[in-house]
Amino acid sequence: MSCIFCKIADAEIPAKVVYEDEYVLGFLDIKPINPGHTLVIPKNHFESLSDVSEETLARMASASKKIASVLKEALASKCEGINLHLADGKAAGQEVFHIHLHIIPRYTTDSFGLKFPPHYGKITTEEIDSVYRKLRNLLE
Ligand code: AMP
Ligand code: ZN
Repeated sequence: MSCIFCKIADAEIPAKVVYEDEYVLGFLDIKPINPGHTLVIPKNHFESLSDVSEETLARMASASKKIASVLKEALASKCEGINLHLADGKAAGQEVFHIHLHIIPRYTTDSFGLKFPPHYGKITTEEIDSVYRKLRNLLE
């Protein structure tokens, strides 16, 4: 298994681990957007949102809540906000194909953000409603 996050979970390669329980691991991102940027991974390998079990995802969310609140304390009043970010798939920016949640401390002045596309605000009512109807049918 050549997955880098599996290697971190198995302690085969080092990481700055800040949180660990039976199911998940939290460690500092090697290239942080801001200091304290943490990744939360399941200890078992799941590539994506469609693979991961609901229970494991819930455990990742629960660990992220704990880490986010401790991060705010650790960074004191300097931390103005937090983003939880999950890139699912290459088009969404996923580079490591072992599911992970980013916990990113944010500041009004940090210039980080998702860029809005030129078609933002121009999606037609027909397109919006077509997806809406499909979602309602599939999620019923
Ligand atoms: P993503 O683009 O959502 O797949 O994010 C992958 C993240 O993993 C990036 O922010 C990388 O900086 C981070 N990363 C890659 N390798 C390591 C590593 N060995 N230790 C800690 N973070 C890593
Ligand atoms: Zn893995």
